[in-house]
Parts: sequence; C-alpha cells; structure tokens
Amino acid sequence: MEGAASKGGSDPRQTPAMQQYYRFKKLHPDCVLLFRIGDFYEMFDDDAVAVSKAVGLTLTQRTAGIPMAGVPHHQLETYLKRLVKAGFRVAIGEQLVDASQIPAGKGIVPRAVTRVVTPGTVVDDALLDPDAPHALAAVWFAGEEGDAPATLAIADVAGGEFRIIDVPGSGGGVADRIVDELAGRGVREVLFASPPDGKAPARIERILSPLGLSGTARPAWQFRMEEAREALCEQFKVRTLEGFGLTPDDPGIPPAGAIVRYLSETQTLSEELKREAAASLKALGQGGAIQAANATLAHLRPPRRDPSGAFLAIDAASLRALEVVQTLRAPVDAGGEGSLLSLFTGGRGSAARTAMGRRLLRDWLCRPSRDLGEIRGRQDAVATLVADRTLAEKVGEALAGVQDVERLSGRAALGRASPRDVLALSRSLEAGEAVLALVEGAPALAGVRDRLARSLPALRAWRESVARSFVEEPPAHAREGGIYRDGVDAALDESRSLQRDAGAWLARYQAELVAKHNLPGLKVGYNRVFGYYIELPQAQARQAPAELSRKQTLKNAERYTTPDLAEFERKVTSAEARAVERERELFLAAVASLVAILAPVAEAGSALARLDALLALADKAHRRGWVRPEVVEEPVLRLAGARHPVLDELLGARFVPNDLDLGPREHDGAGASLALITGPNMAGKSTFIRQVALLTLLAHVGSFVPADRAVVGLTDRIFTRIGADDALHAGQSTFMVEMIETANILHHATPSSLVVLDEIGRGTSTLDGLSLAWAIAEYLSGGAGGEHASPRTLFATHYHELTDLESRFPGRVVNLHVAVREWPPGDPHAQIVFLHRILPGKTDQSYGVHVARLAGIPAGVVARAREVLASLAVQHTTANGEGARARRRLATTRIPSADEASQLPLFAPNAPHPALDALREIKLEAMSPMQAFDALRRLRDLAEGTPPAGV
Ligand code: ADP
Ligand code: MG
Repeated sequence: MEGAASKGGSDPRQTPAMQQYYRFKKLHPDCVLLFRIGDFYEMFDDDAVAVSKAVGLTLTQRTAGIPMAGVPHHQLETYLKRLVKAGFRVAIGEQLVDASQIPAGKGIVPRAVTRVVTPGTVVDDALLDPDAPHALAAVWFAGEEGDAPATLAIADVAGGEFRIIDVPGSGGGVADRIVDELAGRGVREVLFASPPDGKAPARIERILSPLGLSGTARPAWQFRMEEAREALCEQFKVRTLEGFGLTPDDPGIPPAGAIVRYLSETQTLSEELKREAAASLKALGQGGAIQAANATLAHLRPPRRDPSGAFLAIDAASLRALEVVQTLRAPVDAGGEGSLLSLFTGGRGSAARTAMGRRLLRDWLCRPSRDLGEIRGRQDAVATLVADRTLAEKVGEALAGVQDVERLSGRAALGRASPRDVLALSRSLEAGEAVLALVEGAPALAGVRDRLARSLPALRAWRESVARSFVEEPPAHAREGGIYRDGVDAALDESRSLQRDAGAWLARYQAELVAKHNLPGLKVGYNRVFGYYIELPQAQARQAPAELSRKQTLKNAERYTTPDLAEFERKVTSAEARAVERERELFLAAVASLVAILAPVAEAGSALARLDALLALADKAHRRGWVRPEVVEEPVLRLAGARHPVLDELLGARFVPNDLDLGPREHDGAGASLALITGPNMAGKSTFIRQVALLTLLAHVGSFVPADRAVVGLTDRIFTRIGADDALHAGQSTFMVEMIETANILHHATPSSLVVLDEIGRGTSTLDGLSLAWAIAEYLSGGAGGEHASPRTLFATHYHELTDLESRFPGRVVNLHVAVREWPPGDPHAQIVFLHRILPGKTDQSYGVHVARLAGIPAGVVARAREVLASLAVQHTTANGEGARARRRLATTRIPSADEASQLPLFAPNAPHPALDALREIKLEAMSPMQAFDALRRLRDLAEGTPPAGV
C-alpha cells in the first residue's frame, strides 16, 4: 500500500491525520469520505478523483502522489446535494472540537464520522423539498416464493414518522403493490436483507427499477426477528413492543428493526466512539464535544401500522394519470402546477400555510381515507371553517407563524439544529398557543384542540425560556456566539461586560488610583506587547505607592501593574473565548432540554399540520363554491353539476358542469354500474371521466367537491386506464402497457372499486380493439350472466358499437354521450360545436373528419377522406338501408352473444380447411345413400384431422 511513497517517517500516508483518514475510510468503504481539515472537507485518492469528475471540483495533490479535492466547510450542503444526486453515499468525518481551540503541540484533532448521508437519510434543509415527503424504507418478505407477502417499514428521517405496512401476497403482484406504497410516500432508498451472494435479488429489482430507487443491502441478521426486536426495544426504551401493537413475532418487526439499526449506524455515534471522543476531549482539557456528536434518534416515533383497508388505494399509474401531484407533461421540477395538489398548495389565497400542512395534504391526496368516521370528522371541520370565515381567517394568520415543527425537531434530535432553528421552533409553539385559543370554542375542531391542549402546556417552560433568552435574530450557526441576550446568564454577562466595558473599567480604575494616591499624572493604558499597564511620569515615579509593582522603564516614564489590573487583563483576554464557549454550552443545553420533550412537540406539530390542511380545504371550498359530498356505504356515485377541479379554475364560467348517476337507487335498488360514454374526439369524454375520479378522491380526503350536489359511496380502490403515452421509457409497447393495466383491473376490481377506462383498445387494430373493448366492458358490467363483481365503471370509447351493450344488459349498462351540435344540421360539410354536455343515450357519429378539418388538415385531404368514408359506409349500410348518410358502423348484429361466444370465437377467421374443399367437391346427385354416408364419415375425419381411410 505505502509502496508508492518514500520510505521512513516522511511517508505522506503515515501522518497522524492521514492514518485517521484511512481508519474511517476502512469503516465506510462504500462511501465517499469528506474529512474535515480546518475550514475544508477534503477527499483523497479515488474519492477525490471520482468526485472531482462527477461534480466538477478541482483535483489537487495533498503531497506528491495523493490526489485531493476539497470543499469549503460553509458549502457543505451545496456539495452534499450534488453528491447525493450523483448517487454517492457520503460519510462525514467531523472535527469534534474547533481546531482553533486545540493548543499548539497538543496533537491531532479528535475526529469521528458523525453521519453518513444516503438518498433516504438526507435531513439537511437545503437538500429536502419542504412540501414533499422524503423517506427511507426497508422491505422484508415472509418467504422465498415470488408471491410471499411482504412487510414494509417506512421512516421519514427528517420528521420522525415511522410506519409499518403489510402487503398481502394473494393474487400476485406483490412487487406492484409495494411500488404503489413506496411511490406515494416519497421513499428514496430501500433496505433489504443481503442475500449470500450480495446481489439484489430479482424481486428487489422489481421494486427498485420502476421508481429509480437506490437499494441498500444490509446484513441479513439485522432482519432477524430476535435482533430486530432488540433494536426496537433499545431505541424506544421498552421491554416489549406490544404497546405499539406489535405481537412478539410481528412481521413488522424485522424491517422496522433494520431501519433503526441503519439510522443509528448512519446518523449517530456509537457508544464506543462517544467514549473515545470524550476521552480525547478530556485529554485536551476541553468541555463538551460538538453538537453533531450528540445526535440521537429521539425524534423517531414508535412505528405505527397502517391498518389494512384504511385507505382508498390508488396505484402509482393512476396517481400519475389523474395528475394528483404532478401533471403528465410538466417537467419534474415544475412544482406540480396544474395538479390536483397544486389547488391547495400553490394557488392564491387557498394555499396551506405551513410546509407540514402541504405535506399532509399531499399524503391525504395520495392516500385518501376509507374510514367513514375519519372522513366525516374532516368534513365537519371543513364545514366549520367554511361557515365561520372570521375564525378561518384568524386561524390562518396564526398558522402563518408556524414553521416546520416536525423537521426542526428532527434536526434538533440529530444534533444539527441551528440557533435559528431553535428560535423558530419556540416561536412556532407560541403561534400554536394562539391557534389553541382560537379553536377552543369550535366543536368540529375538538380533535385538534385536544391534541394542542394536551401537548402545549408541557412545552411552555422551554418555549418561554428560549423566547426570553434568545436575541431577535440569532446567527445561523452556534460557532460564533451572539445567540443570547444580556441578562440571561451571569457568567455570560460577565464575559461580555468585560469585553464591552474594558474602556470604562480602565477609566474608572485610573480615576480611582489618581484620587487615592493623589497622583494627577497617573494613566492606565494598553499596548499589544506588554498588555495593560499603569504609567507614571519619571518625575512622579518616586511617589509610586507600594501596591504598584514595576513592569517596564521608559525614557521619561515608569510602567507598573497591580494584582487587580493583572486579574482584569486575564479576564478580558479570555472573555471573548469564554463568552462563545458559554453560549455554546447554553445552546446545547437548550437543545438537550428540547430533545427531552420531543413527543409533545411532535403531537403539537401534527395537530397544527392537520388544522392547516383542513383550512386549505375549507378555503378552496369557500372560494370556488364547493359543496360537502354525502359519503355513504352503498356503492353509488351521484353527481349533479360536477366540475373538473383544475379546469374549472382555469376556464371559469366556460366550464360546462355535468351530472352522473351510477349504482343502485334507494327506492328500487336498480341502477347501472357501468356508464359507457361516447362522443366525438375533443368532446370532453376524458375530462368527464377524470373529473369523476377526482371528485371521488376528494370526497375520501374529507374535502368538499366542485359540484352542486354529490353522493359518493365508499370506494376501496380507484383504477384508471388513461393515456396512451406513458411508460414508453420502460421499453414496453403502448398496447402492452394498456393490456397489463387492464388485466390488473379485471383481476382486482371489487364491487366497491371505481374503474375509469379511457379509449380501451385504441392501441391495436380496429377489430381487435373493438372486440377487446366489448369483452372488457361486458366483464366489468358483471359478465354475460352477471356472474362477476361489477365495480362502478366509466368507460369512454370511440367504438360506438359498444352502445349496444345497454340493451343487452339493461339495468347494468347505461349509455351517455357528449353532445355536439352540427351547423347547419344534416349538412355533410357542417361545422361542429362542442357543447361538452354529458347526456343520456348514445351518439352514432364520430365526427373524426370534422375534427381533422378543425385541426388544419389540408382541405383536399379532408375532401378525399369524405369520399373514402362514404364508400366504406355503403358496404355497411346496404343491408338495412339506413340512408345515404356516412356511417362507419360495423354490423353489431354479427357480434355473437356471450353464450355463443363460448362455442365460436369472436370474428372467427375464414381460414381454408381441407374438409371445406372436400365438401364443395361432393357430387350428391351421383351418390348412393351408402356412398353419402361414407363421404360424411370422411368429412368428419377431415374435420378432426385424422387422415381419411384409403387416401
Ligand atoms: P375527448 O376525450 O372526448 O376527446 P377531452 O376530454 O380531451 O375530449 O376534452 C377536449 C377539450 O375540451 C379539453 O381540452 C377541454 O378544454 C374541453 N372540455 C372538456 N370538457 C369540458 C367541459 N365540461 N367544459 C368546458 N370545456 C371542456
Ligand atoms: Mg379523450
């Protein structure tokens, strides 16, 4: 190893600092190590080369042969962001004390790797999107088989939330379900038990690749029940996990335990390292270590299991297609403008006030509730805030003073809080008191009130002491002091007044000496070399009193000192350092006492977040005239005057509201569950079906909805098959994706689901597409004999033939169409006007040629298309003589019913067959009955494929 360098003591890799570096590097071989030296974080060797290439740092050399690259310490966050983005794991080797505080010759600066930054463990403000979750997951499978059930643990490292989610194995698709769970929760990194060969197994790859997540293999033992249980008990200081609802062999324990071990390994110092650090500090005569060395996971809350069936499930593809948090075409960083979420987080006036509220709203939209009590509770709160606008406005003002309590307390626990963070937290809690006072009298807000009333009193003492003692605008770092006011701490005051009042003290001391000894020429002064002195002109030197001891003789003056002055000098020179050190002590104590009360802080924070989210819903309802939907158990969907929440805002009065009525009616139990929506391109079919899905989603969030009236039955899942252009990057054909998604729907939809299908079958030839669309619609309507579950389904299609399903399955399928007006009516060259109004019944025209003309297809091409269309129409309409109007209908009468279909394939191909040829050749008139019988037998053999006898 050391061969490259010169022999002996001058080997540059053998210096104490480099030895320390290589020791850390060995402990974190998979990380880039940022090693703090003075004002820089340095990297060496391969790290330096790789990083300088990846993020554009200048590569230098420490000494001959050791490549080096460094970043200034105050730019750490900037570079961390780039490094993590470039896929590096980063270990940070910190100095445990300020190097300036180490007396010369006292040896090497004590250092330790205080944290490892990975994609899932980022907690720095600059590296996190304040409005989006950022989480770490661990996955554990209950068996080796492909369909073994899995359990996930997901931790939000910055904010402290910790959850367990069971993913059942039944019906296959475990990986897909896991992907759906991870997608909505902002997971960036997935831990898994390292298999013996160390490679990520296929089932892990299936989870990681769709979301582009990084996977981190962890020692398998950390996922073992015993060890995992131990890790959790130790972290939460309990003997048993039953208090958290975890049975002794709960499948949630292995992944949760693995997460705790990973976090304490990457975010905190081991006990051993802490002892080591303390020892080296003691040897240096230093007090406490730097804040980062005190990191704990105190903010991590005990894991909570998501009850199965508590949420309305929306798979990742549907979240995308419905543009819940992001629009389909927007670039990734466009901030989700135009998404459903942006209505509550981005807009004017109706946006959530806090980052916590925005994250909660996002969570609610990705995972709406399926619990009627919870939904109605939120609705009641929203209703109160809609009705009492004065209250709403005051609450909004108070909430504006609340900062990110969750992430601030996370940073405190992890030893990374700044003085500004601590003051922000204290001020947020104060704003919380104002909120509490406001909601006191509102019964619908009792949940929030109770949680605030429970938590805030326990925080009052801490909050007030910070408010009292911190200056108005504390510095961003505890390094240089300037955090505390005067009058807070006697020792600090003394240090400061010594610095500040040195001049006054000297003047006073001089006056005192002059008066006492009657020496008008006496002066007290200071110089850099000799320090403080008392000076007498030579003429008066002989009268110098005994208490002055001589220090220096000048040409015409004598200089003296006194024990008082020496003491003063000693104090002043160390005062500044002591003031800084004292402030640091006080600050660390304030952080420590905060860390001791993090549980009530978290409770207050989450109550404030909830109120903020509810208020944003209420503001939107108030501003846009949304109504409270009636959420019921029955699988119905009745909307009157419903609007698309996003387009309604963009188009205003130009948006045409529409109605829908699905599911059993109260008085007779009848009512179709499948609506087939036809209409020309651009009529508004896609808009309508999306809008229905979004309103259903909003109703489950507890939000009001853009409609005049809405009754929404509880829904277990929203399935969509929308859009023909996604997932191309995954290397699958559009049609294949369409069929995969549709297969998933047919397998998993239940009577409580909502299914939204847009133009199924468009990705293949007309006949294929129509046949598939027909069979799929038939299946979703309950099957030919009504033998399947029939979810509420909206089926938008340009295959007009499907409208015949209504008469085949009366009461199960209902036809809707989007109205257009032709002008002048009946004229083949008519203009069409889109009315965007959904009406009962079917359209039988597609107006494709009209749309082509609107889109600017050259007139000649449009005219030729009309000719072609007319000739095609003749072939299809001669039989029933439906008139000369161009029609593109296929004869639906030729589609067999489902019973016939089981014997004859749909649209059987007219393949030639030898039996047919033989049949044509038979000369019946020339045959005896016996010959005819033989011919018949030959034909049968031919049909069955056995070679006829005698041939
Ligand atoms: P289709 O799916 O039938 O081809 P779209 O749903 O894509 O039609 O709608 C086409 C356009 O018509 C949309 O971009 C939208 O601007 C407008 N539109 C749709 N529905 C409405 C409506 N209810 N009110 C007003 N404009 C609408
Ligand atoms: Mg469409």
